[in-house]
Amino acid sequence: MSDAPHVPARRQPWPESASRPVATPLQPSVVYAAADPDALDAQYEGRTRGYAYAREGHPNAEVLGRMIDGLEGADGGVVTGSGMAAVGIAMLAALRAGDHVLGGNQLYGRSLRMLTEDLPRFGIAASFADPTDAAAVAAALRPETRLILIETVSNPTLRVADLEGIARVARARGVLLAVDNTFTTPRTLRPFEHGADIVIHSVTKLLAGHADATLGYVAARDPALAGALRVAAATWGMTPSPFDCWLAERGLLSFELRHDRAQATAARLADHLAGLPGVRRVLYPGRADHPDHDRARTLLDGRFGNMLSFDLAGGRAAANAFARACPAIAFAPTLGDIATTLSHPASSSHRALSPDARAALGITEGMFRVSVGVEPAETLIEEMARGVAAAA
Ligand SMILES: *Cc1c(COP(=O)(O)O)cnc(C)c1O
Repeated sequence: MSDAPHVPARRQPWPESASRPVATPLQPSVVYAAADPDALDAQYEGRTRGYAYAREGHPNAEVLGRMIDGLEGADGGVVTGSGMAAVGIAMLAALRAGDHVLGGNQLYGRSLRMLTEDLPRFGIAASFADPTDAAAVAAALRPETRLILIETVSNPTLRVADLEGIARVARARGVLLAVDNTFTTPRTLRPFEHGADIVIHSVTKLLAGHADATLGYVAARDPALAGALRVAAATWGMTPSPFDCWLAERGLLSFELRHDRAQATAARLADHLAGLPGVRRVLYPGRADHPDHDRARTLLDGRFGNMLSFDLAGGRAAANAFARACPAIAFAPTLGDIATTLSHPASSSHRALSPDARAALGITEGMFRVSVGVEPAETLIEEMARGVAAAA
């Protein structure tokens, strides 16, 4: 038998081109070949720039990270494999056994779970306070409190934290302030300008914006802490996929357009829903009847976002009827997609809470949270009006 043709194991060099691509190349390589051990030393010691192993960093994460840094006014933020990975490495990098974390009492469900179920196993205590009340936050601090974790706008009641007040308390007491800016986005508010030490994102949501990439981002003001975040991400393996970073970069290029259009539609939709019979209340920080409207006007500078919630008077039965009557709007527990999505906190994000705990947060069986997308406002208003009528 003659030799069968074989594919060479060594990959072919990238074809030369005197012109350059305008789109960012996708670089999936897990590993990078250095010229010799001295060259690798030079790279690890920072005398030359280069990559070694993708878990420690890769070009697509770098490109995306620098774009989000620019939006947040940050330096050296780390892109992670999910928003929860970003929350996780913030905790891993900043805390040690014996520390206490104070969380906002309406944190994202998984963040709540990390604080209540996981951190205590590592000797880190957690408790919660109302972030709309800086005095309550100050009163909940302990001598061993090391970090406060809040979201500026809460899910699903869209309460607006007293970020300025909490930042003053944190600074006076020498406590780190971490802000999950997923809902608000840097288009509305840049937490570093308001005293935050750490900024966290679920890039999965509005920044990437197409419900096709799961990613996070975390940045720290202090360069030593920023370095610790990078090391924690590499050590605990919270690195993102290059393809997800590539998708997110592509999504981020249209973030401002998507955001501003969705925000304008959300304001119209909120007012329209509030006028319909069968809608008990609408929660949108841009409306004068929202409990934190005044704070939203100053802190968010009149940019009230794409998220709103509303409460159907008919409870769970009305919620079922509404969801069935609006099949064009995905009933799916996410937010920030280019298309509008609808979530029902009582059966999804807040299902683990007791009915009393839900009631204390103002979450009812008739409540939906809407993440407004870029559809024409008239289409959404019509669809939702049909849903409300079916629910009534
Ligand atoms: C979705 C979300 C997270 C978690 O992000 P994933 O990308 O789903 O891991 C964290 N915080 C907030 C506010 C979120 O909405």
